[in-house]
Amino acid sequence: MLRRRTVLASMAASVAAPALAQTFPSKPITIIVPFAAGGPTDVVARVVGERMGKELGQQFIIDNTTGAAGSIAVGKAVRSAPDGYTLELGHVGTNVANGTIYKNLNYDLLTDLVPVARLPQNPMLICSSLEVPAKTLKELVEYLKANPDKIPGGTAGMGSGSHLGALAFFAATGTTYQLVPYRGTGPAMQDLVASQIKVMVDQSSNSLPQVRAGKIRAYGITAKARSAAAPEIPTAAEEGYPMEVSIWHGLWAPKGTPPEIVDRLNKAAIVAMQDNDVRRRLEDLGQDIPTPAEMAPAAFGAFQKEEYARWQKILVAANVKIE
Ligand code: ASP
Repeated sequence: MLRRRTVLASMAASVAAPALAQTFPSKPITIIVPFAAGGPTDVVARVVGERMGKELGQQFIIDNTTGAAGSIAVGKAVRSAPDGYTLELGHVGTNVANGTIYKNLNYDLLTDLVPVARLPQNPMLICSSLEVPAKTLKELVEYLKANPDKIPGGTAGMGSGSHLGALAFFAATGTTYQLVPYRGTGPAMQDLVASQIKVMVDQSSNSLPQVRAGKIRAYGITAKARSAAAPEIPTAAEEGYPMEVSIWHGLWAPKGTPPEIVDRLNKAAIVAMQDNDVRRRLEDLGQDIPTPAEMAPAAFGAFQKEEYARWQKILVAANVKIE
């Protein structure tokens, strides 16, 4: 009897799924963003969400659920109904690094969400407030060496992009700074401009506008080559401290979301990424746009798995964990 009910239930589900997909979306879609409004992840969500909304004929609503470097937001996405109306837009920190760092997560980043689309990535800028006397990366390193672990630097919490950037900076330069956690690097950036904190390694999409406005100083970019968006900023390697970190973003849905709906969302994300206006806005912030092939759910899922293993090694070696 039980088996018969299960069979009937799964038959009903398989009939319902394509029907659901045909009418999808019939109401607004929520994107859970794990960091504060105005920060780099929020900007990607708003730019991409607006264009996807146009494509799908529905509004995209941004839900900024902050705290614990995104792990609260991801938990909320995992517990949401798998119907395509709640998505999560995260990055290599929230959906990869946190799996190794946070020992008490009650979900599995690789199996409790399904990949929808890979989204842009950007390198980071090593920045300081204008009150820091150093004018070059070498001088910044000397300044930090003279004040070990005393200079306050912004992060969006353990496992955030700005934390991964700080770890790479510490490894490349042999220095440390005091990690001050924020709900996102949007608010941290305001404090950097106001010199409440002195340094930050943050995504170019958040730091570049402030560098251009002359409100903070940038010493180097954490990429192999200079960025077309800011050719005047040298690479960290050119300044004598090779380090490469790129923060890639992605879109996920709760496990069990019908594949037809995932496919629909993926196609809308590809349309958004191919839109000239969207590209211009993101590329101007130093973001690299993935190709449609890289954005495909299966390719993106495989990429996330590789990144998971790569960061696991790095974070275990650096003994970064929260019990
Ligand atoms: N991406 C985060 C934000 O939007 C910051 C971070 O990961 O460092 O605030």
